[in-house]
Amino acid sequence: MKSKTPQGEFFDALETMSPEEREKYQIQKLREAIEHAYKHAPSAREILDRAGVSPSQIQTVKDLEKIPITRKVDLIELQRAKPPYGGFLAIPLEEVERVFITPGPIYGPHHAEGISWFGKTFYAAGFRKGDVVINTPTYHMSPAGMLFHEGIRACGATVVPTGVGNTDAQIRTMLDLKVTGYAGMPSFLMTIIKRAEEMGYDFRRDFALKRAWFTGEMLPASLRKTLEEDYGIAIFQCYSVTELGGCVAYECPQKSGMHFMDEYIIEIVDPQTGKQLPPGEVGEVVATPLHNKTWGLIRFGTGDMSSYITEPCPCGRTSYRLTGIVGRATDAVKVRGMFVVAKQAEQVFSEFEPISRYQIIVGRRAERDELVFKVELKDESIDKAKLADTLADRFPQVCRVRPDRIEFVSPGTIPEERQTIVDTRTWK
Ligand SMILES: [Zn+2]
Repeated sequence: MKSKTPQGEFFDALETMSPEEREKYQIQKLREAIEHAYKHAPSAREILDRAGVSPSQIQTVKDLEKIPITRKVDLIELQRAKPPYGGFLAIPLEEVERVFITPGPIYGPHHAEGISWFGKTFYAAGFRKGDVVINTPTYHMSPAGMLFHEGIRACGATVVPTGVGNTDAQIRTMLDLKVTGYAGMPSFLMTIIKRAEEMGYDFRRDFALKRAWFTGEMLPASLRKTLEEDYGIAIFQCYSVTELGGCVAYECPQKSGMHFMDEYIIEIVDPQTGKQLPPGEVGEVVATPLHNKTWGLIRFGTGDMSSYITEPCPCGRTSYRLTGIVGRATDAVKVRGMFVVAKQAEQVFSEFEPISRYQIIVGRRAERDELVFKVELKDESIDKAKLADTLADRFPQVCRVRPDRIEFVSPGTIPEERQTIVDTRTWK
């Protein structure tokens, strides 16, 4: 199905719906998606039946809490037990147009009709007719290459399907075709730039690259700054999940969080209970596709930890925003009701140059969770009280909970190979 290339500031009317319009739209789509999955995907039906929930009981987003979360491990197991699609195929087998294979293996049946919405993320990143874009993810097995390709096309831009690797050929292509856009991983763009510099080029002067769209890898703030300031490339990120067949959240020119894609219901939940968490609290990203009649997946738990904000964005898009992926649910420990994610904690400690090694110990004392930091210093002579105060103030700004105690221990006390967070509580 060919849709018209958008002309205005926004890709489609969904991006600027009022909160009331969005609620109405999403509820309607959610009911349809659940009913369709229940009717056509045997595993979706089993999940609901086992939970004692009928599709008619799902009338609000909050009602989704009644349905258990399905994770990647469940998908792999179900596909082994009920090959090839694990009972989630919701269209006749012969209607499947493409099958993507991702590690597991997980077989992902796709029907390509109507995926032009994926273009929203590229449009928000400024890709337009006249742009020439190298699309560098792989085109085989994984859905990445082909989906991004179609998303870029939906903005009217020209795609060069360069795929993964072949750095020198990518460089030649960028020069010859005056490539203005890049889609792929940040590390590979950096590889291209470094190689071009080795070859004697001045990247900013000799190349036409204006914007880059990234997914699949965390983008360190320092790398973004380098690419934007030193190389003059506008950088945009998207959060995509292979099992969900697309982009779940995307950056706009404000680059302050990633807008929820209206083609999904996105929840941030406590990974242990599946209950929804309020804005600002860190939990697991769980998404239910609303656009996908092929794949009857409901409440897919991504294992990624994030939080969301509801403040209106100056860009004019009205959906809520994910604040960025802060780590994995398996590396998260709940302390006084808040999830502390190892990666986030590591980020805080990395800001403190005098600290050589550290470990976070979660315990329980007097019916209360206790958070203790053990810290080794590079130089024992520094002002420990001052460092402890600064660290105790900084930590809750990122991880939402304040340490109860910071203990300085002598060098060598904390093993080199260690877990960032150790949970010593006997019950959790
Ligand atoms: Zn925005």
